[in-house]
Amino acid sequence: MKIEKDRVVLFHYAVSEQGQEVLESSEGREPLAILSGHGNIIPGLEKAMEGHEAGDKFGVDVAAADAYGEKREGLGQRVPKKHFGGQRLEPGMQVVLQTNFGPRAVTIEKVGMSVVDVDLNHPMAGKDLHFDVEIVDVREASAVELEHGHVHGEGGHQHRGPMPACTKERPAFAGRSFITVVRWIS
Ligand code: ZN
Repeated sequence: MKIEKDRVVLFHYAVSEQGQEVLESSEGREPLAILSGHGNIIPGLEKAMEGHEAGDKFGVDVAAADAYGEKREGLGQRVPKKHFGGQRLEPGMQVVLQTNFGPRAVTIEKVGMSVVDVDLNHPMAGKDLHFDVEIVDVREASAVELEHGHVHGEGGHQHRGPMPACTKERPAFAGRSFITVVRWIS
């Protein structure tokens, strides 16, 4: 079965900046599951998958504009130090903060006595990326998955309880969720 819109794709991936070492991969974890054509992953990778089927392995270069977008100005924010839980902070470090929009990776810019300046750009914004992908499985989506816009079950969205209210969260992998004002939760 070939990958096209409204099909569920399970895949392994490794991502690097073009010409550099692997930054992140699904090695040793269960494959990532996405609903194709619903923006669950960055557009350049979603497009590159079209027409592939289970067992295919391929590499693809994705320019920043089709990945996590260009780095944007004006996404700095000052955060009280207490939200960092006493961890040692240095400029350039990436840390994950709990926000009212869920966990969010930020880059430390400046560390003061009681506040920390962070950059809210996605850590991979402005980067041209290379993905190595292995397609593990392709199947038809269920009606509920199509309605929710994401995958349920293996590798996908986990709902708790028999008839849960779906929050329609996207996988952490999805990009381009630019939020300029974030409330920090300690
Ligand atoms: Zn759902």
